[in-house]
Amino acid sequence: MRIILVGPPGAGKGTQAARLIDTLNIPHISTGDMLRAAVKAGTTLGLEAQAFMTRGDLVPDEVVIGMIIERIAAPDCSKGFMLDGFPRTAPQAAALDEAMAAAGVTLDAVLLIEVPDSLIVERITGRRSDPETGAIYHLAFNPPPAEIADRVVQRKDDTEAACVARLSKYHSETAPIVPFYEAKGLLRRVDGVGSPDAVTARIADALKG
Ligand code: ADP
Ligand code: ADP
Repeated sequence: MRIILVGPPGAGKGTQAARLIDTLNIPHISTGDMLRAAVKAGTTLGLEAQAFMTRGDLVPDEVVIGMIIERIAAPDCSKGFMLDGFPRTAPQAAALDEAMAAAGVTLDAVLLIEVPDSLIVERITGRRSDPETGAIYHLAFNPPPAEIADRVVQRKDDTEAACVARLSKYHSETAPIVPFYEAKGLLRRVDGVGSPDAVTARIADALKG
């Protein structure tokens, strides 16, 4: 299966992807995770991306497109993949379309996880992750267990200011790709409000339908 997860920052894309890949048995490809790994490793790509990410701006299309086209051509993606956080702009969606057509493969679904803006800042500023396992927590909604509570970390861009910038970019740059996938009959809208279990169940239904 070839699936794209779209949604504002904090919609629950990473949380849901981690649950879905176990059942679907496909790799989870998060551009945010790949870019953070590149920043940590100090690669040229990481150095190029870092300032954009800290500000809550999008990394330039040419950087992200090259990274993803290479990644989905890897052998572990031959049976499918779940893209999380890509595409995020119209040129990225067009480049993905072109690369998939050239490879003779098609998308199965684009899941749009919808969460109102009013809930986003709280989700983002409370987000923490376990650097050892990558597991995502929330200080109030999904607190880390006591034994790992002192090792969880907060992303540099999970401040209120960067979150507001990211949300604004989501509306101006990413939301316009929704009609592109809607016109192809691939879009599945999923209500992202409610418990993570409830959202997972809605996604499972959306993928069946
Ligand atoms: P995204 O990858 O879309 O940015 P995450 O999966 O990282 O979103 O979730 C953002 C924050 O919201 C995390 O702290 C996560 O624990 C929390 N979260 C995820 N899903 C829900 C939900 N259904 N209800 C409340 N909080 C959630
Ligand atoms: P979130 O969990 O808030 O949705 P991500 O982890 O997906 O955020 O992305 C973090 C940051 O990485 C973004 O704010 C942006 O700077 C950069 N980034 C991730 N994916 C893309 C992309 N497809 N295009 C441009 N920039 C990206």
